[in-house]
Amino acid sequence: MPKTTFFKITARLPRFRADLLTWYAAHRRPLPWRQSRDPYRIWVSEVMLQQTQVATVIPYFEKWLQVFPDIAALATAPIDQVLKSWEGLGYYSRARNFHRAAGEVVARHNGEIPRDYAAFRALSGVGDYTAAAVLSIAFGLPYAVVDGNVKRVLARLLVLEAAANDPGAKILFQEKADQILDRNHPGDFNQALMELGATVCKPRTPDCPGCPVRVYCAGLHGQMQTQLPNRLAAKKTPLKHQVAVVPLWENQVVIRRRPAQGLLGGLWEFPVVERAETEPAKRVVGDLLNSEFGPGFDRLTPLGTVKHAYTHFKIEVSVFLAEATDSAPRSTVSENGKWINISELETYPFSKYNLRIIELLRKHLDPS
Ligand code: SF4
Repeated sequence: MPKTTFFKITARLPRFRADLLTWYAAHRRPLPWRQSRDPYRIWVSEVMLQQTQVATVIPYFEKWLQVFPDIAALATAPIDQVLKSWEGLGYYSRARNFHRAAGEVVARHNGEIPRDYAAFRALSGVGDYTAAAVLSIAFGLPYAVVDGNVKRVLARLLVLEAAANDPGAKILFQEKADQILDRNHPGDFNQALMELGATVCKPRTPDCPGCPVRVYCAGLHGQMQTQLPNRLAAKKTPLKHQVAVVPLWENQVVIRRRPAQGLLGGLWEFPVVERAETEPAKRVVGDLLNSEFGPGFDRLTPLGTVKHAYTHFKIEVSVFLAEATDSAPRSTVSENGKWINISELETYPFSKYNLRIIELLRKHLDPS
């Protein structure tokens, strides 16, 4: 690529902002949450978009607004309905916190989403990013967002060598974002910077010739655009081995609710337990059934293996069906578990890997 003209951003900030905003006005994707400044809709989108692709979020966003059209509807909804609407999006603490925050808005702020940074930031699950995004986009308040896209763009534009995934570099990226923010149009400016990262200044293949701010890009000028941002080496993700069992008695199965706090909190699941890699899965299932139900399950059928990756570890779950004899002790299901009819499974919220267990179960019971 021929060398382009280069101007330091700091020497031409107003021009840089104007060029970015002009590009954004012409090229922004027509996403459903961009059609309104309603703080609730923007908040919904920002919570869903954390760790999740835009294309995945769109149908969830639209359905969510039908079920919970405003903050009051969310605040009064049962947690199971909230988790069911979130089912498949992952990172369920986002849904639990959002539900809790809706209750706080009703209780503390008379149902009005607060415009004050400290008040909004104090709500459950609201971090610096969400506060800046919602307050700038919905209310035009001058707070700069910093997410993965923004860090990448800033690292390239300004040649920042700090690792983008180093928590210690958070302050530096925030300072730089604050410095270049257009305080007259903070919502559009924040979205423009994120849009540039998502559609032009992409991780592996930045489209520098098509970039509206290439003349200000120190990374491009120094031909470092594909080397930046720097990143700390990722740790190897450990693999955990688990066994899950679907206890079946006539047309009923056992599910249990996970504790409200922690990973997948509040979701339902089939009884599951970890095992050492060398332990035979069948023996572990036998022990699990004995400790939870006592004797009575005489037929054990492997249904398959389900794999899933979380942020910090992966799981590989061997799934078994355990069919009970007529005298199966239905009353000995542990406190947080219950027998339900198979047809009721779809009314409970499950994590992704449990939904795959349900698929395996249905396939086994009805192979056609
Ligand atoms: S010129 Fe290239 S590296 Fe620089 S901001 Fe634009 S797309 Fe990113």
